[in-house]
Amino acid sequence: MSKVADSIRTLHASLPEGVELVAVSKFHPVETLREAYDAGQRIFGESRIQELLPKIEAMPADVRWHFIGHLQTNKVRQLLRTGRIALIESVDSLRLLDLIDAESERLGLVTGVLLQVHVAAEETKTGFTPEELLDYFRTRRFERLRATHLYGLMGMATNTDDAARIRADFQAIAGLAREIRAIAPDLRGFDTLSMGMSDDYPLAIEAGSNLVRVGTAIFGHRDYSKK
Ligand SMILES: *Cc1c(COP(=O)(O)O)cnc(C)c1O
Repeated sequence: MSKVADSIRTLHASLPEGVELVAVSKFHPVETLREAYDAGQRIFGESRIQELLPKIEAMPADVRWHFIGHLQTNKVRQLLRTGRIALIESVDSLRLLDLIDAESERLGLVTGVLLQVHVAAEETKTGFTPEELLDYFRTRRFERLRATHLYGLMGMATNTDDAARIRADFQAIAGLAREIRAIAPDLRGFDTLSMGMSDDYPLAIEAGSNLVRVGTAIFGHRDYSKK
């Protein structure tokens, strides 16, 4: 059995009931994705449109594609026009959210999204601050969305070896999701919590994650010199 297939099977067997796996396949070739697919993996995460489009063409139609990278507003139409995006996990501004909503309506789609929240120490990580999100839900601006479904939050922990810090970041994101549900109890289906990558997904699951995004632990290291 290939190492990729082995990792997929091991992960599927070890993740608790109710936790879904996104295989983060960015920078890896289609042949490698197919090994994961053949081992039973169906959700794949990509972060760049130019890489995602040919992979959509090459992979079977029952793959569920999650977009997990920074999405430029001028690429929204191109992404949504595929009609194949199961979830945009990385919505990091209201401008982007509004644009996704407008394009989805124009295309006759309903697009599922997660709002990306920034709690990590690094300034480089994008996303809403917790305060911005609380304000958005308190003022009930989500009611204006016509063709977008808010499924929950996505977030990353600080990149550190300090397990206590990582745990605190994940707990902050999980707490924020609870607070949002309390502010807007009529918000339906806002229950996805996408947290955890190769190095920290067990801590994320402990904190309540139900969607983990694992790349390196499945596919090995990415070769950024390619493409
Ligand atoms: C690349 C990426 C991952 C996967 O990271 P690994 O450390 O390789 O598991 C997860 N989430 C996001 C948003 C990413 O960009």
